[in-house]
Amino acid sequence: MIHRSISEYFSPYTLQKVEVDGKEGYVLIDREGYYKGPDEGIDIALKLLLAYGDAGIQKALDDENKSIHLENMGFDFQKTGRYVRHGKPVYKRGEFDLFKRVWSFHCGFCGKKVSIDVQPEYWYIVDQHGIRKSNTLSDRACSEICAKHIWDEYLELWLKNNRYSTELGK
Ligand SMILES: [Zn+2]
Repeated sequence: MIHRSISEYFSPYTLQKVEVDGKEGYVLIDREGYYKGPDEGIDIALKLLLAYGDAGIQKALDDENKSIHLENMGFDFQKTGRYVRHGKPVYKRGEFDLFKRVWSFHCGFCGKKVSIDVQPEYWYIVDQHGIRKSNTLSDRACSEICAKHIWDEYLELWLKNNRYSTELGK
């Protein structure tokens, strides 16, 4: 069973490619650029064998990579739920401006026609970078509930395409 230790997350070594009797090998170089000797090199090699030789290693690394991927995409479903990305809400509330030209839209979820004549406010999706594939649907919604539904549709399709549970964050 592997456990990622934060304090040793960054390796103190880099690898230098070397040729040994015509075959490819590696030696370790430390942060100051000095080559490390066989004691340290073999110690690291044994530790690599220990970790990679564990029967559950692939599954453990896959799980780690999944949570890193979700983190990189700005999600923390357990802490902030599914409507927050990179610490910010994925939708916002807007107000129609009395002094600008009258405009209207159809709610991207329920299809209701929305304009200042119907209601003073509307909602819209703000952060869909990398999540949304097509531009065919409206990102504007008549209500916060419909904005959540629009986001749910984007998110669940993305989760499905990336082989995550579509229940994440619910
Ligand atoms: Zn609606």
